[in-house]
Formats: sequence, C-alpha cells, structure tokens
Amino acid sequence: MTSEMHGALARADLQRLLDALSAKGYQIVGPTVREGSVVWETISSVSELPIGWRDQQEPGRYRLEQTGAQEIFGVVHGPQSLKPFVFAPREPLLQITRSKEGFTTSPTLPQPEKVAVIGARACDLAGLAIQDRIFLNETYRDPYYATRRDGLFVVAVNCTRSLQTCFCASMETGPRAKCGYDLALTEVDDRLLVEAGSEAGRDILSGFSLPPASEDLAGEATRRIESCAENQVRRLDRSRLPHALYEAHEHPRWDEVAGRCLACTNCTMVCPTCFCHTVEETPDLSHQHTAHARLWGSCFTQEHGYINGKNIRPTIKDRYRMWLTHKLASWIDQFSTSGCVGCGRCITWCPVGIDLTEELSALLTPGVQPPIDLQHKIGT
Ligand code: SF4
Ligand code: SF4
Repeated sequence: MTSEMHGALARADLQRLLDALSAKGYQIVGPTVREGSVVWETISSVSELPIGWRDQQEPGRYRLEQTGAQEIFGVVHGPQSLKPFVFAPREPLLQITRSKEGFTTSPTLPQPEKVAVIGARACDLAGLAIQDRIFLNETYRDPYYATRRDGLFVVAVNCTRSLQTCFCASMETGPRAKCGYDLALTEVDDRLLVEAGSEAGRDILSGFSLPPASEDLAGEATRRIESCAENQVRRLDRSRLPHALYEAHEHPRWDEVAGRCLACTNCTMVCPTCFCHTVEETPDLSHQHTAHARLWGSCFTQEHGYINGKNIRPTIKDRYRMWLTHKLASWIDQFSTSGCVGCGRCITWCPVGIDLTEELSALLTPGVQPPIDLQHKIGT
C-alpha cells in the first residue's frame, strides 16, 4: 500500500478485506439478494454478495437480473440506505416503573457494536452526513444514534453505472464518494481500486501489502465514474430553491399529485434523510412497568399531523406538499442543505411511481401541468 493509501486489490482477493475486518471485531454487513430485492444482511463470505446481479429501477418498478458476470457490485442499491444502522427502525428508549413516589426511568442505550457495512454508495454517505447533522447536533445530541454511529465502519463503493432513477450528479452528492467513508472501492473489471478515507480505514489496510494503483487503473476508475454521472437521465434543478417552491404553495399541481398519492409512507421509509418518528408505550399486565420506544414515523400518516386535538394536515395534498416543501426547501433553511441527496429510492419504491423531479419541474412551471405518465403503474 502506498503512503496515500491508494492501492489495487484483485477482485478475487476481496475476501482478505472481509477477513481483516472480522479480525478487528467487526460484524460485516453487505448487500444480499432476498426475495427479489437486495437487502443488508450479516455476511462472512464474498460469495454471499450479489455477484453477477444487476438492478433495473424505474418509477414504481424494481427488478433484479442475473447477468452471469463476475461483477460483485453490479447492484446499485436496494430499498435500504445506511439509515437503519444508526437511526434504528425501532429503538427502545426508556424503561419506566411506577413507584409510591411517582415514576422512575432508566434509559436503554444500545450495546456498542462494531459494524462494517460493505457497499454503501455516495448518496448513502450524503444521507448519513445529513442524519449526523440532525442527530449529533451539539445542542440535541441523540445518545442512541451516537452509540450506533460510533461503531460504524463504512466501505463505500463508487458507482460506475447509474439507474434510471438516480440524480445524484445534479445534487452534487455522487456518484463518487467524496467523504465520510473509511474505505472506498471502485470495481474496474477484475480489479478493485482501494482508497482509505479515515484513520480506521488506514488501520485496516496497514496489514495489507497492496501494490499501488497504476495510473491506468485510477484513470479508468475516474473515467467510469464520470461516465456514470453523464449517463444520468434525471436531474433536479436546484437553482431557484428554496424560494420558488415556497411561492408554489397554491399551485394546482398539488391537487393533481394528491390524486395519485396513496399516503402509503413508502417514500419516507426508504429515504436516507427522513427522520420523523413516533413513540410507543408497551405496558406490562401489572401496569407497573412500561417500555417507551421510538419508531420510524412518517409525515404521510394522519397521526403525524394530529396536534392538540386537531389535525393540521388532514388531506393527502397537505401532507405531500409538506413533505416535498420540507425536503427541497425548508430543509435548506433549517440545516443549510437540501433534504434530498438524489438517490431516487422514493421514485422506485412509490407504488404509483410519483417522481419528485417531475413534480418539482411541474411546480416551478406556472400554469403548466405535464401529463401523467400512465406507465407509472404498479408492476409495469
Ligand atoms: S427524497 Fe427521494 S431521491 Fe431524495 S434522498 Fe429521499 S428517497 Fe432519495
Ligand atoms: S410512496 Fe408515493 S404513494 Fe406512497 S406516500 Fe410517497 S408519494 Fe405517496
């Protein structure tokens, strides 16, 4: 390995990296094919990764196909980002016990665990950085998130193919992982360009005697990443945000999209940056103890808008408008960044194929409503 920690690994030797991470005590998690999709699972062997598989994604459509090739990282992404590793879908927060004096509470922090995730994409890292800004905020640092985040080691994979739904290039979040990774891989035929991005990454690689990456390999990796960006067919025009979206508050397009939206919450579940949650009590039969837990929530539910005896967002139009306006406009005012990283998951996993890039374009065009693409139906 060179002093810049920029080396070349034969694709057939990727198992050495997994073994090195295991030896350091990491539980290794990677993308695996399960029931027609790709999901994160604990793995111990490269053979469990989706070798030879590729994903095709379009509005409301996700398909996997086996190509027979030896490509390890041909699948770009499944429905999950890095979010579940740090912002748990169900997080026990407190145990509450009733006593004569009142109540006592004891926090239930997660056990610290070392988890190495193989195959995160640039958009996932951008989403994680946004979640860090929210949950690790100095004033309101979330100890549950922080405990999980401390043990996370990310092996990113730079994208060399784009999906129909990707628009990270226009959001300047990808397809190359810029920061936030421990190691980054770029698969170039039967070789992997390996780059270290943190002390933890350099520590893992210090035991390897990787040859330095040739100029030929580094150049070809860059060429493929740039080609991936150029091939993206979707883009989101941010030039007039956030103000133009605020000004579109009464646009007729909100009624039109509300007529298609099912308020199913899929878009918020798959989004790497959405952080709405609800809380749940699970009392025992004695009514002396209760478990207080945080669960992923969604601004698309009726319950989310219920405040002080009144629902402030009773219609789907209210909720879709709130979600898109927060994601693309007021998020910028709150956190100095867009709430969207261009991963395209909400487009793929929306059962009716609602595409936020198309919606924004329509909303920023006064009086013009593009026709609904009738191919955006379930399963087509
Ligand atoms: S809003 Fe959609 S495209 Fe943007 S980050 Fe969330 S899931 Fe990805
Ligand atoms: S996934 Fe689609 S249908 Fe479901 S709530 Fe989101 S926009 Fe509406």
